[in-house]
Amino acid sequence: MTQTLHTPTADHTAATHPAYDPTPSIPRLLTELVQEEFWTRYATIRGDAEAFHPDYAADRKRTALLLRAVIADLAALANPADAHHAAQTAAAANALRRADCQMPLPAKAARAWLRDQYQQHLEDEVPHPPNCPGGCQGSGFVAEAVIWQNDGTPVHAEPLTCLRGEEDDPHAPDCTGCHGTSKKYDAEFGEYTMCCTYAPDPAYEHTPTPAHRADPWSTLPDDWYLDEPPF
Ligand SMILES: [Zn+2]
Ligand SMILES: [Zn+2]
Repeated sequence: MTQTLHTPTADHTAATHPAYDPTPSIPRLLTELVQEEFWTRYATIRGDAEAFHPDYAADRKRTALLLRAVIADLAALANPADAHHAAQTAAAANALRRADCQMPLPAKAARAWLRDQYQQHLEDEVPHPPNCPGGCQGSGFVAEAVIWQNDGTPVHAEPLTCLRGEEDDPHAPDCTGCHGTSKKYDAEFGEYTMCCTYAPDPAYEHTPTPAHRADPWSTLPDDWYLDEPPF
């Protein structure tokens, strides 16, 4: 495994050389984080957390610490000049190291270590809890239909990344793969295939666009705030 190590003079390289490939979705990471600790936290409030095996609880806590640090790292990478986010990321990474009973590292080393830990998490044979609400039993994969006939009948299923029982966010109309339908039409075979990755088109223009408004997404009239309340 290749670990990205930053040279002392390469602060700006984080922006030009992505530390994560592909870049994780922060909304998905938040879903993962919440799902990781939900049951153990609920059991703690209910007063029967001891019902969980200590290893199960420790795994959940560690994964939650990992994911929150990765979210902080992504925020820091979005603005490499912001030392505050970088410091917060290092603190979050070192919180994970403490959970591993390891000594804290300096900021850059802690972030490099964090990315390596996240890659290992992705490659883990059991990345999800055994009671994952997505039904993967810990494997991180579930069989899902990926090809449908014209009438919507599924014709082929493949193991896909388990979404932990929560639907993924829908693709917006600017998705170059599916234009917001989340399915792509294969004219050769007369079938629909799943659009797996939201790929926004930077040149996409929403239509119709109200030319007189600064916010092209708004459909409210200019003087909406002057209207009398409906009561
Ligand atoms: Zn799962
Ligand atoms: Zn799409």
